[in-house]
Parts: sequence; structure tokens; C-alpha cells
Amino acid sequence: MATVKRYEDCASRLENRGYHPPTREYVDGLVEAMRRSGVEACWHSAVDPDCRALFPSKVIPNCHKDANFESFHYLIGRLHEIGRPVLSWYSLSHCIGLTEKHPDWQVVPMADESIPVPGRTSPEHLKRWCCVNTPYGKILPEFAAEVVRDVGFDGIWFDGASLADVSATNPGCLCAFCHERFHDDTGLELPTRADFSSRAFRLWINWRYERLMDVWKRIADTVHAVKPEATICFNNSRHRYENFPRWTTGIPMKKLGWDVVMAGELSLQVLQADFQIKMHRAYGCRRGAESWMPLCDHWNLWVPDIEPLPLEQGAVAALSAGGVASMGIGAHPKDVIGTLAAVQKAAAPLIPYKDGETVRYAAIWVSQQTQDFHDQLGRQFSWDAYHGANELCLHAHLQSSIVLNGTASRIETRSGFLFPMR
Ligand SMILES: [Zn+2]
Repeated sequence: MATVKRYEDCASRLENRGYHPPTREYVDGLVEAMRRSGVEACWHSAVDPDCRALFPSKVIPNCHKDANFESFHYLIGRLHEIGRPVLSWYSLSHCIGLTEKHPDWQVVPMADESIPVPGRTSPEHLKRWCCVNTPYGKILPEFAAEVVRDVGFDGIWFDGASLADVSATNPGCLCAFCHERFHDDTGLELPTRADFSSRAFRLWINWRYERLMDVWKRIADTVHAVKPEATICFNNSRHRYENFPRWTTGIPMKKLGWDVVMAGELSLQVLQADFQIKMHRAYGCRRGAESWMPLCDHWNLWVPDIEPLPLEQGAVAALSAGGVASMGIGAHPKDVIGTLAAVQKAAAPLIPYKDGETVRYAAIWVSQQTQDFHDQLGRQFSWDAYHGANELCLHAHLQSSIVLNGTASRIETRSGFLFPMR
């Protein structure tokens, strides 16, 4: 049996998911694709896309009709035989196994038309979203522990790790649990509209950050209590190109310093890997930084003859900034071996340089307050400024750092020079 490589040391990482427990035929094909492409790490999913358990969970027993452990033990065993670690995908804000039993645990979005979001939520669509301020927030860490302890995954990649729905843009939550908890914590009534002149609304933005980070932290601590080496990744869903207010996610921009991987998604903007990875690194998490990119030439048009060059560039850009790109595919891995192999070949030689130092005299200060309270509901000017400052540094061949609130004063004192953003 080969030694299983540490996920955090892997130069290439491949996303897969399932609607049902994995079949032997699928697993055998996946293992063949991993061997032939050289890709070093893998994800699958212990749950379906609505986060219904595909194994017989004791914590959330409302599981898939074919739920079993054997399929996963075969999947994980075969991948471990060839030295590949495998994480489970899980969308943190989904749990249809609970919302079917407890409809009052569903996220209730702040459906204020003044919040510019790409889409509104239908009642059917909302069924899978479960609010972390309900008892779900206590149950989820125990479910995550089952995934690594009983199913045997090497960790969990938390997608949808926001307090919102519709790709992290439509902010929640106005459920009865949130109303009660907000009132208990602040003495104020929970606001029902986005009103920046309201003290309660401004407090609510920061309260959501605290509530969501409490759940993230308890997930990491509970998983590490049963498997200290397990890898926990959180997707912070922070894109540049989407023009919605970033406070909607409920994910703060501050140093966390936890024993997790801070992750995000590049989607098709692979050359923004430099900035995005440095943003992740600014969280100070000890297991590193990762950004996801899809193996398609146009969004959701998954084809086997994907052009590899942009993906190779994305992988190199991520490593140059100190992180690793992961890859998602919409086809069987066997159909895209050439592209997977190209990314692996580009990324692997750069791993020894991943943890290099940035220059000590230039940093870009990305301010939570500027994002939330200057941009408010309008165009996200602060993000254009942050990216512009980063481009300036890159064109001058200066690999700068990004600093978040709470770290800027230390950098200022040490270096005396900071790119002031506002
Ligand atoms: Zn709620």
C-alpha cells in the first residue's frame, strides 16, 4: 500500500461528486484516470447535491434509499492504495435531510428588492437550505465527524459555506430562530430590509459574521477531535466579477488563524488566482490556500476537449501566490485525462516554491468596513481598487501581500509603507 499523500501537499486536486453511492465501475475508472493523469488528490461526496447522506448516518438518518458504507470504503480504499487522499464535498448551507423533517429550519432570505442579486429564490429551491442558527448549527459538526470517522474520508471541502442562498448572494436569514437569537444577543428586533441608516441592520451584518464563524470553528474543532490530521476547507465564495454586495455571504474578512484550508473559487477567471490566493492567505489559516476552477471553456458547457492552457496558467498563478488550484469537471475523469495531465505537469514542479515570501514593504489593505459600509448596495468599487493595486504591483514584479483588518497596523510598523486603499 502506498503512503497516502497529505492533501495540503498535493499539486493538483480533482473534484467529483455523486447523486448516489459510487459504483465499482465508476471508482475503477476514477482510479485509472488518477493514475494516468498523475493528479494527486481527489474529492467525492458523502452526500447528494442537496446534502442528503449517501451513507447510513446516525446523526441525520433521513438518508438516500441506497445508502451504505461499503461503496465508500471501496472508493476510499482504492484511492488510498495509489496514495491519493480523498475529501468529501459538502455544501454547508444545504441539508434536505433535515428541512424535510423540520420545514421551519429552512433559510428565510431577506428578499429585499434593493439588494442586487442575480436571482430570487423559489419555494422549491429553498427546501434544501437549512439555517445554521437553528439546531442544524449543533448537528452539522457531528455529521461532519461521521464523514471522516465512520465513512473514512480524509477531510471535507465545504462549498456553499455562507449564510445566504443563490450562490451566496441572497442574504439570510429571517427565520424564527434568527429573530430570537438576534434579539437575545442585541436587544434589538431583527431587521427585515437592507437599510444602512438603521443601527439594527448594520449590527446584523456583523452579527451574521459572528454566527457563521462560530459554526465554521465548531465544525473544524469537532472533526479534528476525532481525526486531527483531517483536512477542512471552507469555500469563501468571494468573486470579483459578480457585482453583488459581499457582506451578503456572512463570511468576514479577518484573520482567523485556524487549522484549516481557506478556499475559494475562480470560476472562469483563472488569472485572478494571484489576488484570490493572497486573499485566502491573509486569513492566516495553517493548512494553506486553494481556489477552484472548472474544466470547461464556457460556463457549464462541459466538454472532453477542454483547452488546457488557461487551466495551466491558473494552476501556475495559484502556486506563484502560495496556493493550489483545484479542478472541477462535468464529465467522467477518464474523458479529460489529457487536460488533467497538463495541469499536473505544470503545477507539480512549483510545489517547492509555494511557501515563498512576499516583498516586505508593499501590501494591499483590504478593509471589511470599506467593502460593507462604503459600497453598501451599490457597485463594488473597493474591489476594483484592490485588484488595480495588485495589478500595479505585479507589473512592477513585486509579489505583495494582502492584509485584512487586525493585521495592518503590524505591517505598517514593520515596513512603514502600505498601499492605502481608502
Ligand atoms: Zn435563520
